Amino acid sequence: MFKWLLLFAGAGLLYLWIKGKKQAELSAGNASKPNKNKPERAPTAPEVMVQCQYCKVHLPRSESFTCDERFYCSTEHLQALDSQGWLGDAQWRISPNQDVRPENVQPDLVVIHHISLPPGAFRNQSSSQHIVDFFQNKLDPNRHPYFAEIAGQKVSSHFLITRSGELIQFVSTQNKAWHAGKSNFLGRERCNDFSIGIELEGDGDTPFEAAQYLVLAKLIKKLMSTYPLLQFAGHSDIAPDRKTDPGISFDWKKFQKETAISTEKLPFGLSSR
Ligand SMILES: [Zn+2]
Ligand SMILES: [Zn+2]
Repeated sequence: MFKWLLLFAGAGLLYLWIKGKKQAELSAGNASKPNKNKPERAPTAPEVMVQCQYCKVHLPRSESFTCDERFYCSTEHLQALDSQGWLGDAQWRISPNQDVRPENVQPDLVVIHHISLPPGAFRNQSSSQHIVDFFQNKLDPNRHPYFAEIAGQKVSSHFLITRSGELIQFVSTQNKAWHAGKSNFLGRERCNDFSIGIELEGDGDTPFEAAQYLVLAKLIKKLMSTYPLLQFAGHSDIAPDRKTDPGISFDWKKFQKETAISTEKLPFGLSSR
């Protein structure tokens, strides 16, 4: 009887020993398997922290949204006009051709322009960079006879929308860009003081691209949430003796429809001109 008990206990121990060994193997196998959800990071390379351009919060770079090498904590902050008058999802190409607005003046007018350097070049090639160079006083006068004519001018706008719908900002909306020149809006002179200038890449003859209207409408909505008193005019409306832009190819009806601004804010009407 005692022999049987010993044999039984021996078999039990053997079973427990084998079971324990199997479990140890299993857990060793799990430990060596990399976890797919959490990529292993070398202890020598800590997470890079960045700062949201809009709200200044610090966050890991891998969790940030980027535009033009700037970081944002959310798409909301990426797409907003910040407290310094810069739009997060535009490319920033700062122009020296700017100065401060008169004290306590907030913009209440948007002036629409067109520009193309050299005129019409965008039809055959990408030429947006020439406009950026021009607004940054970097236009090479040897590249084209027209560039030699204008290279000495010191001008800028707040925004440029290229044919492909890229949005570039040169001057903070809080500052004065030099886009309107001698001008008069319903009896008020020096429109640069109180306006925001938006250039559309184009000429007087070619219809503007659908992508340009879309980006323009999005931009206008953001500007209006910061500057609710904005009205809208073409450069030719405020400088009729000197300027013809944005020209007859600019579709004011389409502009009004896509921005949903009230026609009262368009004192020159919706007809092509
Ligand atoms: Zn933020
Ligand atoms: Zn103009």
